[in-house]
Amino acid sequence: MEKNSRRGRNWDAVVVGAGPVGSYVSYRLSSLGYSVLLVDRKSEAGRPMHCGGLVNASLYDLEGLAFLKERTVLRAVRGADIYSPSGSKLPLTGKDVKAFSIDRALFDLELLRLSVRKGTETMMSSTLQGMKNGQNSEKELRISTPKGRVEVLTDLVIGCDGPASTVRQLEKLDNPRETVPGVSIEVEAIDGRVPEDRVAVLTGERTAKGFFAWAIPSFGDFGLRIGLSAISGAHFREGMKRLFNDERLADFLSLGSGDEMRFGELSRVFGAIPMGQGKRTTEDGVVLLGDSAGMAKPTSGGGIYPGLKAADLLAAILKDPEDSMTRNIRKFNMRWRKEYGRELTKSMLLRNMFRKLEDREMDVAISALTDRRKLELINETGDIDHPISLAVRLLRDDPSLMMIVPRLLPSLRKLL
Ligand SMILES: Cc1cc2nc3c(=O)[nH]c(=O)nc-3n(C[C@H](O)[C@H](O)[C@H](O)COP(=O)(O)OP(=O)(O)OC[C@H]3O[C@@H](n4cnc5c(N)ncnc54)[C@H](O)[C@@H]3O)c2cc1C
Repeated sequence: MEKNSRRGRNWDAVVVGAGPVGSYVSYRLSSLGYSVLLVDRKSEAGRPMHCGGLVNASLYDLEGLAFLKERTVLRAVRGADIYSPSGSKLPLTGKDVKAFSIDRALFDLELLRLSVRKGTETMMSSTLQGMKNGQNSEKELRISTPKGRVEVLTDLVIGCDGPASTVRQLEKLDNPRETVPGVSIEVEAIDGRVPEDRVAVLTGERTAKGFFAWAIPSFGDFGLRIGLSAISGAHFREGMKRLFNDERLADFLSLGSGDEMRFGELSRVFGAIPMGQGKRTTEDGVVLLGDSAGMAKPTSGGGIYPGLKAADLLAAILKDPEDSMTRNIRKFNMRWRKEYGRELTKSMLLRNMFRKLEDREMDVAISALTDRRKLELINETGDIDHPISLAVRLLRDDPSLMMIVPRLLPSLRKLL
């Protein structure tokens, strides 16, 4: 491939969106010798940070990321306190580190720097506005930049432009099946003790209808990221207000009921989590990755790890490319759906069951998991990004769990 770094000309790949997925795929393709242009409408990568910042512990095993661990990890997470709506607690503690709480803004920025060091050219404060087929098989993109409009040609457009993806809209590719809004608030806990290596998950219709709320230790000794994500229509402001007075959160911070619980708010950001990949997320000359493709895990809303895994797979395919880009893209699509599609489909099934649970059913379900044997199994096998294998093991180990909420039996059978 001929390297051409002049703007307004040909590129091997144009990546739209310098979030974690866009910066990582640019880095990987630039490392392979492709000429890559990375475009983002923001002036600065990583901000505002709309994220809980909790990632799978395997994230840093991905190619090229090991050195970022020391710089961007804030806390190693070993356990979780899962609270039922009425306040009973499922305390999980693994032997190994299960996840990391990261400085997400720094993570995004460091990925962009890594990519630029490998030769990626960037256009910040620049927005993709239009796309059409060129004279040959290439795509012609119209980008508005601070210096005016430019047109560029490329063989491959990689849409990493998030939940409201312009690439997806311009190419009429499929929307993710569901998008849930979420809010993340960075606070300094004034009272109580922030657990060093545990996170809290709080369920319940009044807290976060259809999904959950969380508390994740972040910066220093007192930093905490509190957030919630709930199905559309839920009242976020009310939900957050209740959360800041929630006795379950007080318990997580080792405060007694009646103790004062105060927080100093540092930042508050709203965002959206698209989940459930549609059927068409690739097209001739176009691939969607990350949130634009709805790759986030439907059970946790975690989108960083799956997005980077998909970027890793695309890079592996483009390392030994077929003779046409169309074939490379088809190969990527088939392999992604084969390797991860099943897990994602089953996760969506689990998510739909979770959505349907009423508070009293959630209470029963969480209580049913608190006996010693099940806790051991969860602690051994639990993985925030692979909940299906755990769910299947639990159900096989104790089939009576299938009957806890009888109306979910048909869905649980499909899970097995
Ligand atoms: C409240 C909340 C909490 C979350 N918590 C977690 C968590 O704890 N762990 C986790 O793994 N995930 C979490 N997520 C999800 C995670 O933030 C996303 O999955 C992740 O950011 C996806 O990365 P991305 O690169 O695909 O997209 P994004 O990070 O959204 O980046 C997209 C980029 O594209 C740019 N862009 C958009 N349109 C254009 C255009 N037309 N032209 C140029 N640029 C454009 C944007 O400016 C942006 O920089 C959370 C999400 C929310 C909302």
